[in-house]
Amino acid sequence: MEFSKFDVSSLMEITKRPDLLFVKGSGSWLEDQNGKRYLDFIQGWAVNCLGHSSPEMVLALRNQSQLLINPSPAFYNIPSINLASRLTHNSCFDKVFFANSGAEANEGAIKLARKWGQIHKNGAYKIITMKDSFHGRTIATMSASGKPGWDTIFAPQVDGFLKAEINNISSVESLIDDNVVAIMLEPIQGEAGVIPAHIEFLKDLRNLADKYNLLLIVDEVQTGMGRTGKLFAYQYSDIEPDIMTLGKGIGGGLPLSALLAREEVCVFAHGDQGGTYNGNPLCTAVGLAVFDIISKKEFLDSVLRKADRLSNGLIYLSHKYSLLGERGFGLLRALVLSSNDANNIVEEARNLTPEGLLLNAPRPNLLRFMPSLNVTDAEIDLLLEKLDYIFQKIIKK
Ligand SMILES: *Cc1c(COP(=O)(O)O)cnc(C)c1O
Repeated sequence: MEFSKFDVSSLMEITKRPDLLFVKGSGSWLEDQNGKRYLDFIQGWAVNCLGHSSPEMVLALRNQSQLLINPSPAFYNIPSINLASRLTHNSCFDKVFFANSGAEANEGAIKLARKWGQIHKNGAYKIITMKDSFHGRTIATMSASGKPGWDTIFAPQVDGFLKAEINNISSVESLIDDNVVAIMLEPIQGEAGVIPAHIEFLKDLRNLADKYNLLLIVDEVQTGMGRTGKLFAYQYSDIEPDIMTLGKGIGGGLPLSALLAREEVCVFAHGDQGGTYNGNPLCTAVGLAVFDIISKKEFLDSVLRKADRLSNGLIYLSHKYSLLGERGFGLLRALVLSSNDANNIVEEARNLTPEGLLLNAPRPNLLRFMPSLNVTDAEIDLLLEKLDYIFQKIIKK
């Protein structure tokens, strides 16, 4: 059907969208209103860790939706109890609070740290975050983020976020004073262009936090749930953070996120934290189905194997077209171009016929790859083949 048959004028304009709409998805493939297929290396921004409409998720959705959808967060339900205990048994954390988006989980982390500061640190409330970081789109999480320009769009910001530089420990230490309660960072900055915090830096942060009695918060909304080939990216270092947030892959595509903390940090009093949909059995049942697949050692090993294949292919293309290399952990990878052609490449890829390719360009000179974690070798090879074809047209012109 023609795109013009659909009246999109009632939707609030928040971003430039291409003139197409998706009607179906399966695994690594999406289908638009005309039946054209697209190989999807965005996957809802690293959300669909088992691909589109995976059978396991569909089954969990169907079964749980027939049993119970939302009894209220003020009552216990079985899927949320089970998912919480899976998460605590597979991490260094003791308690879980479920929410519905990454930003909401991060808001919870900020509230928890401030409350802990009130109780244990004389009302200290400031949180050191990183330049170019991304923590969400609520006012507080935008204030926590270090995206250029975000300090002025909806000014005034929420007070109390100091910005340091990733992988520069003295830039962190020089900001510490009596009012600082926590340090918060993404183990790999996603939106900034897949920039990993070095393992030494994470260790130094843990030491600083111990020295000054600060909480260390990792935002694993993008890096958690097997994305990097470990269940959580902090596990690449041997540090144990105090608080962690999860989102994106945890729901496999459904709105689900989580705030995890060590026992000593769990200081919310009744009424401090909540939310109408939080920990509902429908989303947590799906989260449970996802967790039981991705947490298996063989599955995480397969993520690393596929990551190698993708990485090697990107390195080959980087040499062939004199690009600036690739980087990343697991199936969160970026290819650095030698020009600002990323948006052209994204357009060209989408417009390929008969099959399109969906790519993401978080920076004008950078492509980011976030396939489903069960992407096949053949699909990775197809991506590389299509990239080669596009680069020939765009980069060699
Ligand atoms: C996507 C993302 C968020 C925000 O998650 P939403 O579900 O969009 O609110 C927060 N932190 C990081 C690191 C992210 O990648």
